Amino acid sequence: MTLALRCRCGQVKGIVSTGRAYVRATCYCKDCQAYARHLGRPDLMDTQGGTDIVAMNPLAVQFTAGEENIAGLCLRKGGLFRWYAACCRTPLGNTPHDGRVAYVGIVTACLAPAEEVDAAFGPAGRVVLNTGSATGEVRGTPVAFVLGGVRIAAGILGAKVRRQTPGLFFNPSGQTLRTAYPLNAGERHAVGLETG
Ligand SMILES: [Zn+2]
Ligand SMILES: [Zn+2]
Repeated sequence: MTLALRCRCGQVKGIVSTGRAYVRATCYCKDCQAYARHLGRPDLMDTQGGTDIVAMNPLAVQFTAGEENIAGLCLRKGGLFRWYAACCRTPLGNTPHDGRVAYVGIVTACLAPAEEVDAAFGPAGRVVLNTGSATGEVRGTPVAFVLGGVRIAAGILGAKVRRQTPGLFFNPSGQTLRTAYPLNAGERHAVGLETG
């Protein structure tokens, strides 16, 4: 089964093959909240400040249009690369720095329609991460959290064993296709991150 990927303005388009997904999760970490604010899209968070993502193998995703609009940033040194559609500031996916690690957290804001997303991955909120920094009460999901972690680890390891070639935001040798700029001190301050 495939799902449509689309930025808000429709310039960036793609398809996601659901069979390569690891787990759907909602992240309440301060960085994900700061990122939504930086993009000017706090509306994409749930009422407790959570960002809904589907962790998957990068091979699951294929861009079909508007790839030139993709930009990247990094909130802190060593932090995740966060890729977004610069045309309308729609978050797309977050990755580690090393493209050889078969992981991308696709932000479900770029997947539609919602019913199909739920049908493919189950409803949001079954796995929650970093609830300590949620802006409201969120019940932890310890068992699902561990199982989700195992699925991600198994997916990454399996891709390594198969010597999967990096793709999506990376070239075959694992370097990024475009620069993910770090936020400067002013930008960090503006979204509530420490400026140091
Ligand atoms: Zn767009
Ligand atoms: Zn997060």
